Amino acid sequence: MMQTPLNLYSIYDYSQHMYPTKWIVTRTATGTHRHQYRDFGQRVRQLSQALRHLGVQPGDRVGTLAWNDYRHLEIYFAVPLSGSVLHTINLRLPVEHVRYIINHAQDRVLFVDETLLPLLAPIKNELSSVQHVIVLGDHPDVSQSPVQPALAYEELLHNFTGDVEYDANLSEESLLGLCYTSATTGNPKGVAYSHRGIVLHSLAMGLANTTALAESDTVLPVVPMFHANAWGLPFAAVWFGANIVLPGAAPTPRDLVQLMAEEAVTVAAGVPTVWLGVARELSQHPVELSLRMALCGGSAAPPALIQTFEETFHVPFAHAYGMTETSPLATFSRLKSALAERPAAERLAIRATQGLLVPGLSMRLVRDGIDVPWDGVSMGELWLRGPWVADEYYHGDGGGDHFEKGWLKTGDVATIDPEGYVRLVDRTKDLVKSGGEWISSVDLENTLMAHDAVFEAAVVGVTHPKWDERPLAFVVFKEGKTATPEELKAHLSQAFPKWWLPDAIIVVDEIPKTSVGKFMKRALRDQYHDYLMPQNDGAPT
Ligand code: ADP
Repeated sequence: MMQTPLNLYSIYDYSQHMYPTKWIVTRTATGTHRHQYRDFGQRVRQLSQALRHLGVQPGDRVGTLAWNDYRHLEIYFAVPLSGSVLHTINLRLPVEHVRYIINHAQDRVLFVDETLLPLLAPIKNELSSVQHVIVLGDHPDVSQSPVQPALAYEELLHNFTGDVEYDANLSEESLLGLCYTSATTGNPKGVAYSHRGIVLHSLAMGLANTTALAESDTVLPVVPMFHANAWGLPFAAVWFGANIVLPGAAPTPRDLVQLMAEEAVTVAAGVPTVWLGVARELSQHPVELSLRMALCGGSAAPPALIQTFEETFHVPFAHAYGMTETSPLATFSRLKSALAERPAAERLAIRATQGLLVPGLSMRLVRDGIDVPWDGVSMGELWLRGPWVADEYYHGDGGGDHFEKGWLKTGDVATIDPEGYVRLVDRTKDLVKSGGEWISSVDLENTLMAHDAVFEAAVVGVTHPKWDERPLAFVVFKEGKTATPEELKAHLSQAFPKWWLPDAIIVVDEIPKTSVGKFMKRALRDQYHDYLMPQNDGAPT
């Protein structure tokens, strides 16, 4: 068979020929911006030409500090099509991490949204690799850029005709992109994506066993384009010719619901906190939606959330799992047809697992170096391998604990049942280790969030004089609702043995969130680590 390279050019070229009239819609400060794939393709070529003119060479890294909008999508294609490397930077990282990763990646050009220019001010003298800043916006004042020289994106594009020759044979092994994981300890680590990995990952997004993304869809990635390739949706959606709706800067749940309704979105993707917000908005202001899939990943989707979407809003909900290191799609939860007759509660429990391995990948479950059985009970660390799974960190950084004999050690503790459903029990670092036994913080959280009064819940392990660690729970109540700690414990005790129950349940206004909207349990652990120690007056008896 032919060895045609699996590169982004094949995606772009196909899409330009098959779907020139499909739409890309962006929510802007003043309304919406719309253009068709053919205009998108033209602007991509103009941008590639501009990058060449600026001296960007194949292999050079090009950074973005940008929201989900049409310009960012153009950069997503123009940079790798020219053979250079798209480095999406998480704009919510602490500034010292932003500085670190720009320097570590040695970004030569930075695309920065005009609203994000102030992020560069404290580090402006420390970005020695950056030769040009290109400011994204309609009419940005480039003199406001703390790093110079700065050019305006639209003016730059205006100077080029788009007459550029792409290399259709660009090596599939060459780097397409780079994304750094948000580090909980130490410095962020870079994950480099190859053209081949992204093409195969995009194909996997189109499988009926996963998202079945297709030309007939209108796709809304709420998940930021600076986080794990926005779960691969920009590449897959363009390839398959779906309409794309981009939510712009910092959308609220109300903005999202409005966009989904007005643009008849069929597939939208976000972390559970996004869907919790959307659910609250929908219950306060009901609207008819065309969603065929609310795609949820990044953290465990509480079963109660799945149920609310399907039973109250009649929106099918899909739970998926992955990580920056896996491009990110690794498992996807769909009910096997043979399980369709199981009782409703069992079906929900299966669908709330992280699901089945995506075709193309392999997995193992390992504890103390030994494979544990796939019996739905034995816990072990999930190990993954496959063509869109990283085998090292960029520049070989600190990968010692994470890669072993061709496998990625995910740091996630799971069970796998005989049908193959992966159920994440916890991140290794979030497991509560009480008296030598493991307590799953995720299971406790999900059950708390199934209580009628609870909006959000987080459980962390804190130091205990006798048991090493004990669980502490934090809850946020739904508006106008409340419950006592005793009521919540009684609710939990229906599902868990007594020794699993949190030693205290603390009511808070909000659970702190990470830069990508996951519960930031580290902040709670740091703040409450000695809450149960005898010297602490607040300790419950
Ligand atoms: P970060 O490490 O910055 O959170 P990632 O997106 O790479 O960035 O995080 C991947 C991790 O998120 C996984 O290792 C896992 O712990 C968690 N995760 C992702 N999807 C799910 C899910 N569906 N259920 C539970 N945890 C998830």
